[in-house]
Amino acid sequence: MSESDTTPTALRTPIVAVLGHVDHGKTSLLDTIRGSAVSEGEAGAITQHIGATAVPLETISDMAGSLVDPEDFDLPGLLFIDTPGHHSFSTLRSRGGALADIAIVVVDVNDGFQPQTVEAIEILKRTGTPFVVAANKIDTTPGWNPQEGAPIQQTYEAQSSRARSMLDENLYEIIGDLSDNGFSADLYWRVQNFQKNVGVVPSSAMTSEGIPDLLAVLMGLSQRYMKEEMQIDVTGPGAGTVLEVKEERGFGTTLDVVLYDGSIKEGETIVVGGKNDPIVTEVRALLRPRPNAEIRTEKRFERVDEVTAASGVKIAAPDLEDAMAGAPVRVVRDRPVDEVIAEVKRELAEIEVETAEEGVVVKADTLGSLEAMANALDEAEVPILRAEVGDVAPRDVAVASTANEEKHKVILAFNVSVLKNAQEELDKAGVKLFDDDVIYQLVEEYEAYVDEMQRAQQ
Ligand code: GDP
Repeated sequence: MSESDTTPTALRTPIVAVLGHVDHGKTSLLDTIRGSAVSEGEAGAITQHIGATAVPLETISDMAGSLVDPEDFDLPGLLFIDTPGHHSFSTLRSRGGALADIAIVVVDVNDGFQPQTVEAIEILKRTGTPFVVAANKIDTTPGWNPQEGAPIQQTYEAQSSRARSMLDENLYEIIGDLSDNGFSADLYWRVQNFQKNVGVVPSSAMTSEGIPDLLAVLMGLSQRYMKEEMQIDVTGPGAGTVLEVKEERGFGTTLDVVLYDGSIKEGETIVVGGKNDPIVTEVRALLRPRPNAEIRTEKRFERVDEVTAASGVKIAAPDLEDAMAGAPVRVVRDRPVDEVIAEVKRELAEIEVETAEEGVVVKADTLGSLEAMANALDEAEVPILRAEVGDVAPRDVAVASTANEEKHKVILAFNVSVLKNAQEELDKAGVKLFDDDVIYQLVEEYEAYVDEMQRAQQ
């Protein structure tokens, strides 16, 4: 067998997403993980990627102390997707599933389950993604007594009975809500099998309490149950998912991509899912953020020759204008381009939304959220005339105005902007717009509107 016939394999970094209700601490938690990793300094430290942060095993073990013995692991660390929230999570597909291998659901311990918590958990359930719950903001518990550097179990046990009972009340409410949503859960140190049960980690993004524990649970879970899936051919043609399509000064339209398999090199031909046909183009530059670079100039980025999975990278290439967030990216290497185009088409077809002759217009920020919207509307028996990724444009208003039934002269916009000239057209065209960033609320608002309309007609 020649060398090129062999399949060198390596274990890639598990990809972690952070989900949860607004204001429960997703961004702070990511900042804290990044911050503590940076302050651990010398041992490997973190690398900032486009759209993601890589925390190597040694850094995790330095941060987690006795909770993570590097000898027990052969996974290289964790890659955190930097855009928190389940909108971005549902965007993040890979071949046949979710791009993120594992998730943290952040729940404000005082606030408990909220609509977006439930929505996040529904998505994780549907995609079969294992997760842990960060019961965040424990530092706000009245009478809280922090134990610096201690594992969170020890801190928990060291609380006064008053603080403990308040905290317990909140924690057990979260555990109960998880159970109502079909997951048996417990405080993480009582969980034996993280595949069967969800671990709840009391945490504070403010004081860093529980963050080492959270990292230890994520590492343990991946090492134990996900090693098979982490086996990749690092020299194979790269496969990734578009996080964002962005104009970048000096580079034109670029793609922020998370690569989950193989590698990608400058100059290679790639196929990207586009609004119409797949886009075939050539990588002009692979870009990574430059540490401490001045903001808003092309110097923000440094060029790299090659990127291997799992990592985040910005791809500059011609003809990316029609690329879609959430779409697949494939490197064409040692195989016919048509084969790769067919592969991308097949993958996009899986996400395709069924449309009807009569129905509403749906706009969403990403393919994944479009699909989630379509599912929610299907359940509510609302037909869709047209569904597309992108901001609400005058053309959408024109399309919505062609609906026969008044209740279908509607645009449902999920997590997108309304272009100014489209806003002006709405009234003229008699089209009603609903926009929201919680899917089920958007559907509920629409249903309430239809109910009211029908009542008025009676
Ligand atoms: P996100 O919307 O889920 O990303 O939430 P943020 O990270 O933006 O946090 C919302 C607010 O909660 C901010 O004012 C944070 O400073 C605060 N916050 C986040 N985590 C904690 C925590 O652990 N303790 C306390 N006291 N405040 C927190």
